[in-house]
Amino acid sequence: MSTALETEEQQALRAAVAALGKRYGRDYMTSLVRDGAHPRELWAEAAKLGYLGVNLPEEYGGGGGGMAELSIVLEELGAAGSPLLMMIVSPAICGTVIARFGSDTQKQQWLPGLADGTLTMAFGITEPDAGSNSHRITTTARRDGEDWLLTGRKVFVSGVDIADATLIVGRTADARTGRLKPCLFIVPRDAPGFRRSQIDMELQAPEKQFELVLDDVRLPADALVGGGTSRSSEAESGGEDAGLLQLFAGLNPERIMTAAFALGMGRYALGRAVEYARTRQVWKEPIGSHQAIAHPLAQAHIELELARLMMQKAARLYDEGDDIGAGEAANMAKYAAAEACVKAVDQAVHTLGGNGLTREYGIASLITAARVARIAPVSREMILNYVSHQSLGLPKSY
Ligand SMILES: Cc1cc2nc3c(=O)[nH]c(=O)nc-3n(C[C@H](O)[C@H](O)[C@H](O)COP(=O)(O)OP(=O)(O)OC[C@H]3O[C@@H](n4cnc5c(N)ncnc54)[C@H](O)[C@@H]3O)c2cc1C
Repeated sequence: MSTALETEEQQALRAAVAALGKRYGRDYMTSLVRDGAHPRELWAEAAKLGYLGVNLPEEYGGGGGGMAELSIVLEELGAAGSPLLMMIVSPAICGTVIARFGSDTQKQQWLPGLADGTLTMAFGITEPDAGSNSHRITTTARRDGEDWLLTGRKVFVSGVDIADATLIVGRTADARTGRLKPCLFIVPRDAPGFRRSQIDMELQAPEKQFELVLDDVRLPADALVGGGTSRSSEAESGGEDAGLLQLFAGLNPERIMTAAFALGMGRYALGRAVEYARTRQVWKEPIGSHQAIAHPLAQAHIELELARLMMQKAARLYDEGDDIGAGEAANMAKYAAAEACVKAVDQAVHTLGGNGLTREYGIASLITAARVARIAPVSREMILNYVSHQSLGLPKSY
């Protein structure tokens, strides 16, 4: 794979993470799923090597890099067959939001742990009756003296059982206008009134999804991220829209990292298929010599490479501070990587013939896993809507 667009440090990071991933790989993940366990060893080792916090500020124990570096880490772990899904939420979304908008106390409390992997934070925005329409979320915070009381429901939130806290997106009445505005709260895992039930998913992954009920969860004033409590100049300049700014700060990292997740999985599947196509022989030549097998694999490779280009563009723009430019590129990267991943996995399964559907080869379960990147954190259709409206200026139907 050509990496000329990356700096020497980034290339070295890619190679080092690939080597780490190789020591774990898909067998490790499969055994975790079988035993109902979590990738604690890989998480801890990646953290110790500085990979999980590579995007977080150095003063809080991070690597001082950006999304370019963090996406390299997730892509390479995925390409080795052992992706860490929680990287999308913990260091990328939550770490970014706290680093950019958290109070000094929140930064000190969370960032060193998120960076060295000893703390994990989940992220909950999706609601049963809102789904793709996040303007419709009804989880609401109201003041009770100095405290907040948070009430609502969330669904499909990943990793709440292993996360020390969940960053919950809710709404609160603006003190001045009375209008509901978005706000983010850090909710500790065992806060009274914060209940979770695991959703029975078809996915074979160590990370689980949860439905959450928040029933008057009492939170101290400093559980609110930004929104007037922050001393960060970004939050202050946001005024009453600070909650929105904080939310949007997390969205580009989320999309760039989902692209990395999809790219890694697509590359892993493609690698397995190519290896099989090179050696499996039922006629005179290996099946990889038949163009009906070779060309779709070549196409999958091209499409994954193209998607990485867009991911790199999104990461570069984001790391340079161009949130708006990064927004379009991050959406496009997520779209392209998810589509490339779904196609690569489909072709990989097909290339393995009957073996593509056996437990032994372990490829078929990727069909379900690949679909996650198409629907979450924002569906393919919502990205097409975004591009129709924002990039092309077409009118909205909803
Ligand atoms: C494995 C997994 C992990 C997840 N982890 C998290 C997490 O950690 N935190 C979290 O908050 N959420 C998480 N999610 C939720 C995910 O972000 C949502 O599933 C996603 O945003 C879609 O919402 P929905 O499922 O309600 O679908 P809906 O919004 O009901 O959409 C259903 C279908 O309708 C289409 N659709 C909806 N509106 C339109 C429109 N205007 N135009 C065209 N088509 C439209 C969608 O594209 C989709 O195909 C996770 C989901 C999965 C599957």
